[in-house]
Amino acid sequence: MVADGLNGLRPAVGLEIHVRLRAPTKLFCGCRNDAHAEPNTLICPVCMGLPGSLPVLSADAVMLGARMALALGARVAPVSRFDRKHYFYPDLPRNYQITQKQAPLAVGGSLAVAGMTMPLERMHLEEDAGRLLAGPRPGTVAVDLNRAGAPLLEIVTRPVPAAGAGIRAWLRELRRLVRWLGIGDGSLEDGSLRCDANVGFVAPADRDDPAASAWSELKNLNSPGAVQRAVAYYRRPRTWRSIQKRAMDRDFSWRKSAEAYRALYRRVA
Ligand SMILES: [Zn+2]
Repeated sequence: MVADGLNGLRPAVGLEIHVRLRAPTKLFCGCRNDAHAEPNTLICPVCMGLPGSLPVLSADAVMLGARMALALGARVAPVSRFDRKHYFYPDLPRNYQITQKQAPLAVGGSLAVAGMTMPLERMHLEEDAGRLLAGPRPGTVAVDLNRAGAPLLEIVTRPVPAAGAGIRAWLRELRRLVRWLGIGDGSLEDGSLRCDANVGFVAPADRDDPAASAWSELKNLNSPGAVQRAVAYYRRPRTWRSIQKRAMDRDFSWRKSAEAYRALYRRVA
């Protein structure tokens, strides 16, 4: 598909799908893995990030991840490794997430649905964060750590030409496979299957175009229909043009925010 008026740029989409694994325990501790328990009843020093606690990997989660990888024709790595991804968020008590960046559980594979093949980049295991809820008083926030440390399998696809309806059918088929294999509940509604869509453009191989680096991540799309609508929105020529313009302006915006930050710093220092 060639995008009209876009100098040969082609819209593309890549998906990141988080599958909550149906393992009996969390990924690195013995706490029960149950999304429906009373808040903060399934917690321990490991998933609360208390000092001195040590993670122990769940073999069940590894086996479920490998089962999904083999079903999708991916190559399960003989050795894989876990990494820390540091960031602060109120529902992440350790201030880092244990994930796999350098050496994932599996690479490659694909899933073909109704003539559309989505090649897969990688599959890796990682732990979920907790959950923020509305607090007991207006303006307050409560934290539920039952989900902190729950086992997730992240499936990352390679970018493919954007095709809204095809993506919807593809996600439905992936969800059927998750359920049929007993990997997880596959429910987009209760968050046991979550999908982020990365939408952007690919430039022709012989050309460098700033718009081709302006990918947008649309997070937590909660149904195959929502993914389809999001992709359809990005396929509109008007959206493409505004993204292209934003990419051109990006250097300028960076300079502007750096100046604003320096002005703020001068005020508080
Ligand atoms: Zn725990």
